[in-house]
Amino acid sequence: MIANPIPWPDGARCAVAMTWDMDADSAFNWYNQETADNLVAAQSWTRYDPLIAIPRLAEQFARRDLRLTFFVPGWVIEKYPAQIDLLLKNGHEIALHGYLHERSNEIAKEDELYWFGRGLDAYKKHLGAGPRGWRAPSFAFSKYSLRYLLDAGIEYDSSLMGDDIPYALREADSNRSLLEFPTDWTLDDFPHYAHNRDLGYRMPAWEFGALWISVWHPALSGRLARFRAVLELLDYMQAKGGVWFARLDQVCDHVQKLMAEGRWTPRSETLPIYESPLPEFSKD
Ligand SMILES: [Zn+2]
Repeated sequence: MIANPIPWPDGARCAVAMTWDMDADSAFNWYNQETADNLVAAQSWTRYDPLIAIPRLAEQFARRDLRLTFFVPGWVIEKYPAQIDLLLKNGHEIALHGYLHERSNEIAKEDELYWFGRGLDAYKKHLGAGPRGWRAPSFAFSKYSLRYLLDAGIEYDSSLMGDDIPYALREADSNRSLLEFPTDWTLDDFPHYAHNRDLGYRMPAWEFGALWISVWHPALSGRLARFRAVLELLDYMQAKGGVWFARLDQVCDHVQKLMAEGRWTPRSETLPIYESPLPEFSKD
């Protein structure tokens, strides 16, 4: 059913990138800028992520010999450096997820660039070099984001939802592009666990040879009963076989190699899709 099938390493049926968005208390502080200091129970709920869930995840993934991608806001890197070092020590990839979990498409483009720069600075200061990958906080990718990512040398984005396999995002007024590793809201634990606790939908990646990027939050899925279900899912996939478990920087390496060798060409999309709101809405 996939029109442009991509070969995965060692004949794997599909690729699985279980990605974790380690928001900690960044999003909570961004969305409650005036009141967060007095919302103590909510603070404790969001800090469960770095303080309790991250060490648990690191230990359990090490037992299964899995190395995954963690998207982390720059502010969280600054605030919880020991947790970042623990993830790095275990071979996980740290990719960038804004600075304070700002919603890029709800702020001015200058403000988007300002927060993006602060995120990059925080990342480089702790990690030594810039990130290869980016996920827009809340998937709020703006029509200016692609340019900022390209200017910063980011190689892949994982915020959009336009395919089942990697594709290319091309800038309209230049020849520059980066790789898009798409996911979908239904593959994010937030709508399920934050609203109805139901993890009933799984994309049939294995059957169709796709790239399964799921999005997880330590504050939600690192809790005991839910994390037991996460580990059961991982054990199920490992036992099924034919699955390439990969960090997104490894998917990036693989796709770039296929392209360089001329073995596979991604479908390409040009951004922005619309320069402005649809003219149909103008009453002039
Ligand atoms: Zn997030």
